[in-house]
Amino acid sequence: MTETAFETVPAVAPAEPPARTGTVVMKFGGTSVADPEKIRGVAQRLVQAKQAGGRVVGVVSAMGHHTDELVALAHDVSPRPKPRELDMLISVGERVSCALVAMAISDLGLDAISLTGSQAGIVTDTVHGKAKIVEVRARRIHEALDQDRLVLVAGFQGVSTEYDITTLGRGGSDTTAVALAAALGADACEIYTDVDGVFTADPRIVPRARKLHAVSYEEMLEMAASGAKVLQLRSVEFARNHGVKLHVRSTFTGDEGTWIREEDERMLEKAMISGVTHTLEEVVYTVAEASPADLFEALAAASINVDTIIQIGSEIVFSAPLEDRAETAAALEALGARWSERDDLGKVSIVGAGMKSHPGVAARTFTTLRDLGVDPRFVATSPIKIAFYVGSDDVERAVKALHDAFDLASPEAERQHA
Ligand code: ADP
Ligand code: ASP
Ligand code: MG
Repeated sequence: MTETAFETVPAVAPAEPPARTGTVVMKFGGTSVADPEKIRGVAQRLVQAKQAGGRVVGVVSAMGHHTDELVALAHDVSPRPKPRELDMLISVGERVSCALVAMAISDLGLDAISLTGSQAGIVTDTVHGKAKIVEVRARRIHEALDQDRLVLVAGFQGVSTEYDITTLGRGGSDTTAVALAAALGADACEIYTDVDGVFTADPRIVPRARKLHAVSYEEMLEMAASGAKVLQLRSVEFARNHGVKLHVRSTFTGDEGTWIREEDERMLEKAMISGVTHTLEEVVYTVAEASPADLFEALAAASINVDTIIQIGSEIVFSAPLEDRAETAAALEALGARWSERDDLGKVSIVGAGMKSHPGVAARTFTTLRDLGVDPRFVATSPIKIAFYVGSDDVERAVKALHDAFDLASPEAERQHA
């Protein structure tokens, strides 16, 4: 039994006052604001959008590797930092970049105001480190926009229903941006990043990977869930549930990027496969003779997002995020289960809405692996995905070979955004 479970997204409070036209949310990732010059560049892009007549909300990530540095600093001080204090610390990165962008915008002669997630009205649940947005109270943003200001919001963070600062999980600024776009009734949510869009594979591994013009929400959910870190999974769930169109594009060029939107006929007819995604390191657990109900209840109670689940005889095999390793071990111990874990496997996934109507994808996948001499371990599927685990050392080879086998570098499968 295998499936990818996507979380349901809570309702966003309806935008009050009612949604207006001409609002755009523009999110800039860490590499886009990595140094003072880039920060001034981002300010310029936001100012151009404002001068084009829009109500503009910018969402920024922390500069470069600032979040990683803050996490490392915490662990230098304490072996297991308290989650509340860790959130207090790592939310700072976005506060820095957000204030700097606002300063640079002021220098260009426009009125800008920076807001923390809490000031921007982003209310979350109380799960530190991967909080979920439960409500967006957008009044303060509306007021600032009404005063003709450009609004900058620190990504990746909110305030919990218990008034603590929370963070939304790694890559969480994407979710901040989408939640704001939904709450403000924005026309679109633009995700500016260091690549030109969503590619048929990670361009760092497959240089011949091709930019996709349009991807359905379902495909992007599968891709984000299986390692295409260009968008945080939760941001795609949010976009789908609230009908927010996403445009993933480059910070450094004016080129059109990739649209993520509802599936249409042409998406199904054209390419059979949209992309090959991967993760290099997965923690795979094997639990002997446990009741699945007790096991997954215990993991859910510890807020651990289980991914692939496979039952083999009386054994249950599942994977869970690397960052939840300590919590997963603690939950399994508390259950008194007999269990083991391994971290020498990575996962390769083939995703495509066209799979539903084109037979033969599994055959081509597994013959390619056989010819490569790579042994797939656990296999998991959904109607639009085939995923399998292989030794971490074999991941890159498998991704490249499958990208070739499905001819993904060829422009044949090109799709145009309507
Ligand atoms: P940001 O800092 O802008 O949020 P991320 O590092 O989170 O950017 O995401 C962008 C990165 O995602 C790219 O640099 C790229 O290496 C990686 N990536 C992985 N898979 C894909 C894919 N299929 N398409 C595009 N980028 C991908
Ligand atoms: N700065 C945070 C991170 O590195 C959030 C983000 O970049 O979206 O995960
Ligand atoms: Mg990101």
